[in-house]
Amino acid sequence: MQDFPTYLLNFKKINLTIEIEAKAKELALLKLIQELKASKSGLSWFKNELEEKQNELRLKEEELQTKKIDMQEIREQISVGKQENFEKTKIRTMHQSLDNLDTEITIQSQRKAELCKYLETQRSMLACTPSVWPTRGWVSSKFGYRISPFTNEREFHKGVDISARMKTKIIAPANGIVTSVGKTYGYGNVITISHGYGMKTVYGHLHSPLVKKGDTVKRGQDIALLGNSGRSTGPHLHYEVHLNDVPVSPFRFILN
Ligand SMILES: [Zn+2]
Repeated sequence: MQDFPTYLLNFKKINLTIEIEAKAKELALLKLIQELKASKSGLSWFKNELEEKQNELRLKEEELQTKKIDMQEIREQISVGKQENFEKTKIRTMHQSLDNLDTEITIQSQRKAELCKYLETQRSMLACTPSVWPTRGWVSSKFGYRISPFTNEREFHKGVDISARMKTKIIAPANGIVTSVGKTYGYGNVITISHGYGMKTVYGHLHSPLVKKGDTVKRGQDIALLGNSGRSTGPHLHYEVHLNDVPVSPFRFILN
């Protein structure tokens, strides 16, 4: 049987390794999130990276579990050792050290669980962010103040106009729920999708909707055909993004 001081040394080593690895992982993940925020093209890259990191965390979790089982075995060995008349103080120190390690592992596990939860939220937010173009075409009118093609006066354009051929497919740029499908004088056939996290998108001048109110949509799913309904000067999609009920530039979220 091994000497106790060697055990002690090993436990300290395990302890330190766990702590250092956890810190390194935390830093790497924070860096990742920052990189995503800075990057405009990293959507798919981020998704892969995120899945990889989560797998790593899962493996780490299993590793911790194994270490816990190892410790239990050592504890049992110590009990045997006790019977073999090892110094009582040494045994007490050893138990104390094991308890400390136990606490450390619990704290690290909790930290990892929090990190996983945080990543899950990030992933869910990303899935609900309108981060891709809703249709293929060219931007014929930007978000912001412009001269109205109808009144020739300055007006606030609440979205972007994407011109394309009649009946071009329009896709959901993020996961969400269709909250309205209807007709108005100005926007013609309109669809509204709520994405959660205070985000909403509006699609105007549609030829025809392909979804109905209450439908759940996934990013990339066909939701309508582009048209020229309502007050429109040619086939185009009027696309709005609202954040907490305030129209914002859709370009703020588009990553592709
Ligand atoms: Zn428009």
